[in-house]
Amino acid sequence: MRQTLIVVGAAIVRDGHVLAAQRAEPRALRGRWEFPGGKTEPGETPAQALVRECREELGVTVRALGQVGDDVPLPELAQRISRPAVLRLLRAELVSGGPRALEHLAVRWVATDELRELDWLPADIPFLGPLGSLLEAH
Ligand code: C5P
Repeated sequence: MRQTLIVVGAAIVRDGHVLAAQRAEPRALRGRWEFPGGKTEPGETPAQALVRECREELGVTVRALGQVGDDVPLPELAQRISRPAVLRLLRAELVSGGPRALEHLAVRWVATDELRELDWLPADIPFLGPLGSLLEAH
């Protein structure tokens, strides 16, 4: 079995809100919401990938913290690349900059009671429960 590809998502939490980003591409996913992030590249740790992706997509510097919930399988991506793939959500702390939608249609700070209102990518939905608890505690 080839090594699992880890796609990282960032749960950037600030003042009881988490940052959500609205995808522009591909066309099939356009308009749906996700935790910003992307694929870990060879030689990169998930935390490093998270820092790179947040810089590229949001123009911010973040520090990667602990994992939220459990890895979620990404069957469509796995089929496309012929190896297992999972989405891993890491908490991230904003170190500098304000998030901008450099590659997304929009970004938005979401409160706990608004989490379920967004049209999330399917793999991101299992994280909403653990995130809700995390935001409440914040
Ligand atoms: O962002 P990127 O296209 O590199 O992500 C790779 C795959 O991971 C996409 O097909 C997308 O469906 C999935 N993904 C996801 N949730 C995220 C980030 C990526 O389901 N928060």
